[in-house]
Amino acid sequence: MSMERYMYHRATSMQDALEVLAAAGADVRILAGGTNVVPNMRNARVAPALLLDIGRLDELRGIEAVGDATDRMIRIGALTTVAELLASDLIREEAPALHDAAAVFADPVTRLRATVGGNITNASPGADAAPPLYALDAQVTLERLKGASGTSGNAASTPGGAAAGTSLPPVAGDQARTARLLPIGAYITGSMQTARAPQEMLTYITFSPCRRSAFTKLGLRRAMAISVETVAVALALAPDGGIETCRIAVGALGSTPLRLAKTEKLFAGKKPGEGLFAAAADALKTEIHPRDGLRGTKAYRNATAGVLLERTMAAAYGR
Ligand SMILES: Cc1cc2nc3c(=O)[nH]c(=O)nc-3n(C[C@H](O)[C@H](O)[C@H](O)COP(=O)(O)OP(=O)(O)OC[C@H]3O[C@@H](n4cnc5c(N)ncnc54)[C@H](O)[C@@H]3O)c2cc1C
Repeated sequence: MSMERYMYHRATSMQDALEVLAAAGADVRILAGGTNVVPNMRNARVAPALLLDIGRLDELRGIEAVGDATDRMIRIGALTTVAELLASDLIREEAPALHDAAAVFADPVTRLRATVGGNITNASPGADAAPPLYALDAQVTLERLKGASGTSGNAASTPGGAAAGTSLPPVAGDQARTARLLPIGAYITGSMQTARAPQEMLTYITFSPCRRSAFTKLGLRRAMAISVETVAVALALAPDGGIETCRIAVGALGSTPLRLAKTEKLFAGKKPGEGLFAAAADALKTEIHPRDGLRGTKAYRNATAGVLLERTMAAAYGR
């Protein structure tokens, strides 16, 4: 293993981690489960001056329902592992799209280390947790120390609705923290790029429950498959069984996951049926940007994405 020399720091608290980020910013690489960072360091794709291990920050681990009966939300700590998603009754029952993704993610050993925050921050176009979170309309929380710059990310800008900084009450003796909320589609700005500023840490992912949601992955084999393409659907039904709201997201069909606004509109007020799927497959082709790659050609992806959408829609509708 030929890694460049680097410093290592294991964060003992959120405050400690944010202080390190505030002081060293761009020279720091956050280490969560390490399933992307460690291989990337081995291949010299990343060579940080300092590796900040946040793996012991238990406050960032866990899945809980927050809010009241009228505004119930699910909040996932950034360090929650894919194995924890898979074991969660709350996720299985109230965000099954994310549960579906956890079930086909890597292998059981990798799932024990891989975190949700790491998956979306690595921002691979084929990241499996991302399309379900797009379909669930998730928001991410980014925190930094007050006064540490939070506007110059590893991408050019923070488009689309960055909430103004929200002050958090400081723990006695600690410097105050500040947080901003971003829709996931504004967090992931490009292939392997996010709107996270170097001084910021991703802390939580929050979304409204959606029982009628599903995710399907097309891979080249049953286990350990990297996505050829993925589809996630989240639906709300009217009392007559028609689709009231429909959110569709795809992965590995563009440089970032994509929401398919035009295709979504086709389903509004309707019940899924044959004719609708043919029209949806046509609309979908105008919204995706598949490329020829190792795992599939553009033509193959164009031909199969509509079928994957039909299967995912049927699964979500039937839940
Ligand atoms: C064998 C194997 C199989 C895999 N299979 C799949 C698969 O099926 N599907 C899939 O989507 N991925 C897969 N991956 C990729 C990887 O496991 C996932 O992307 C994983 O979720 C990354 O999480 P992590 O905690 O290991 O991230 P890390 O490697 O620790 O970090 C990833 C990136 O996110 C940053 N980061 C992490 N946490 C935070 C935070 N809280 N705040 C700010 N920045 C943060 C890190 O600095 C780094 O840039 C696989 C990897 C391996 C090695």
